[in-house]
Amino acid sequence: MFIKKIGIDLGTCNSLVFVPGKGIVLQEPSVVAVSLDENKILAVGEKAKEMTGRTPDTIRVYRPLKDGVIADFRVTQAMISYFIKKVIPSYQFFKPELMISIPAGVTSTERRAVIEAGVKAGAKEVFVAKEPILAAIGAGIPINSCSGNLIVDIGGGTSEVAVISLGGIVTSSSVRIAGDTIDVAISNFIKEKNNLAIGERTAEEIKIKIGTALPERGERVLEIRGRDLISGLPRTIKISSNEVCQAISEPLQEIVQVIKQVLRTTPPELSADIMDKGMVLAGGGALLKNIDKLIAKATGVPCFVAEEPLFCVAKGTGVVLENLEVYKKSIMSKK
Ligand code: ADP
Ligand code: MG
Repeated sequence: MFIKKIGIDLGTCNSLVFVPGKGIVLQEPSVVAVSLDENKILAVGEKAKEMTGRTPDTIRVYRPLKDGVIADFRVTQAMISYFIKKVIPSYQFFKPELMISIPAGVTSTERRAVIEAGVKAGAKEVFVAKEPILAAIGAGIPINSCSGNLIVDIGGGTSEVAVISLGGIVTSSSVRIAGDTIDVAISNFIKEKNNLAIGERTAEEIKIKIGTALPERGERVLEIRGRDLISGLPRTIKISSNEVCQAISEPLQEIVQVIKQVLRTTPPELSADIMDKGMVLAGGGALLKNIDKLIAKATGVPCFVAEEPLFCVAKGTGVVLENLEVYKKSIMSKK
């Protein structure tokens, strides 16, 4: 079957590809491996991630979008080409239309760079739309209605908070405090409390398996392995969910502060709408246990986790691609 339309969510942590009629066809880490000698891109996605921590000095493996900005045009283009090639059948000769999500805070130069990258990667026409808008659409929020909607997308590198009404962003804010920061807080806590160094992956595993944003009565415990900071030898310890709760409270408070700041700059009519309907959480960070309860308690605004929060932006690209006319106010494009 020919593929006419492709939606790409270029996330700081994960990239997803959505094809209308098929759904999410690809999900890979936003990682690239570059050979420093030849200045060549060696691998993208899963393959590049496997190289993490296993490369000689001449190869650098990194997450190009980690801070939510598109710093390296060449790398962005390589990632986009890789995703297109992976989903388009080799015998397909005509070019697809492409929809790419961009962080709300990007400059017009960065936006043009993404569009250019899409064209160079072989798209017939490239559309871009802001991530919070796509996340809201993917979460099923009627963004074109004349009513305020608050969407909070907690990803790996950044958290984006936006108030949307009539298809556009009324007020928004983005911070570099998200899933990664929470992982770092966990490893710092264990370093201080247990004199144990743990890897990034272990920290993330702890967060996903037993993390909680509010203390819980029935504590859960996880056995983890790390390297003792004094003897240098491997050691096993037990960590409880309530310890994790304590470890991650600071970054969570900072995310709450950003939401409050956006609420303070929201026009009163829209605030009233948001109070009525509540805010919607998207992104992988929304899966942290009790994060909705914490935010609702701290802000006084009801809070709901979107269905499949990791897929909201990707699903949003698909919805927009299929209804370009309906969402034309929210997209920018170039042939
Ligand atoms: P991005 O859009 O920036 O690529 P994602 O929306 O894909 O980010 O979210 C990735 C983040 O979500 C990572 O920090 C990951 O650890 C976190 N995450 C994924 N699943 C869970 C979970 N069940 N609990 C808490 N955090 C999670
Ligand atoms: Mg995202």
